[in-house]
Amino acid sequence: MKQLTRRSFNGLATKGLLGSAFLANMPLANAFTTNKNSKKLGVALVGLGSYSTYQLAPSLLDTKHCYLAGIVTGTKEKESVWQEKYNIPKENIYNYENFDTIADNDSIDVIYVVLPNSMHAEFCIRAAKAGKHVICEKPMAVSVAECDAIINACNEHKVKLSVGYRMQSDPYTHEVKKYVGEKTFGDVLFVSSDAGYVSNGNPNQWRLNKKLSGGGALMNMGVYAIQTSIYGTGQNPISVSAQEFSTRPDYFKDTDETITAQFKFENGAVAHMMTSHNANGNRLKCHCSKGWFELDPAHSYGPISGRTSNGDVLKFPHKRQQALQMDDFAKHILLDSKNLAPGEMGKRDMIIVEAIYKSIREGGQEQLLSLGDLGIVV
Ligand code: NAD
Repeated sequence: MKQLTRRSFNGLATKGLLGSAFLANMPLANAFTTNKNSKKLGVALVGLGSYSTYQLAPSLLDTKHCYLAGIVTGTKEKESVWQEKYNIPKENIYNYENFDTIADNDSIDVIYVVLPNSMHAEFCIRAAKAGKHVICEKPMAVSVAECDAIINACNEHKVKLSVGYRMQSDPYTHEVKKYVGEKTFGDVLFVSSDAGYVSNGNPNQWRLNKKLSGGGALMNMGVYAIQTSIYGTGQNPISVSAQEFSTRPDYFKDTDETITAQFKFENGAVAHMMTSHNANGNRLKCHCSKGWFELDPAHSYGPISGRTSNGDVLKFPHKRQQALQMDDFAKHILLDSKNLAPGEMGKRDMIIVEAIYKSIREGGQEQLLSLGDLGIVV
């Protein structure tokens, strides 16, 4: 067989040309060692804030199919700290200005954008133009138009794209999807979900600055409740109505504090979600025609916990969700396995976010949605 270079291997994988004939007879471990360098995909983190520092970088020590190969930071002092801690070669360290030259670095396969929300589109598009696969943190961007721009750039440059929806790789989410798909408890009739925490920190943080965040609780935590409403029913909503509540306007000057929203689904199911920067919430409950099941907590870093009306307590071994998520994306790139959190899922959620804000502006008016199966992964 012709020897594949790392770049041609990734290029073929991206184009879906590493067909089943090539891979069917090859154990997974061999598929990852096609040449001496391609044992694991190299990931570069862009933005070394708290999520990169405390979750993603430690998780990359636990991944099987990718590793921390590089960093992109706007803070000079972080370079040597990270270089030393994670043994990162000097040539794999970039800043926001020289970032585009990463195109010439064959040891970086995937760029993971972990910046404030309003910077996602710019850096994801630059990553795609550099020919690198892209993971974009949630929320995918601050508008549907930006989501489209990211998706188009990744398509144009033939790179793969996923959103940092770690819950899509969590075994508890898979179990919920199984209950819904197999109607284990009958038809899901009503879903209740909430996602929030009490924000008391620096009032000048980027999450409370609309220009940088795109919005408040809804953009930050609300996407989790949107996601649970969807995988809790197994379908996209056909309409949404929403309300906003403000009790601390001095602190939440620029962004939403608490939002509730109700979804209708084509089969008659209904969902209610709550998201807040001023109340804790971390729950999914699905009420069905023959019982119920719930996750509580439902979307923290884990371990997640779940129960059903049968008296069962869900129990899965705890693994870092971020490690599972990045390995799932690596397998998607290398083996064309399912993309569990494609760009279309991030775009779908942003369409819903925009509809929720519109409903609030219009005094709770129901907004019709024509999402079809956009972003549904079964
Ligand atoms: P953070 O504030 O801790 O870090 C932000 C990083 O961006 C910092 O390194 C900062 O220096 C850099 N930055 C560059 N330009 C900036 C600017 N103009 N203003 C502020 N910071 C700037 O934030 P974080 O918690 O690491 O969040 C980063 C992204 O990750 C966000 O999109 C967030 O929604 C997402 N996130 C996802 C999860 C998850 O569970 N999937 C969890 C936390 C954060």
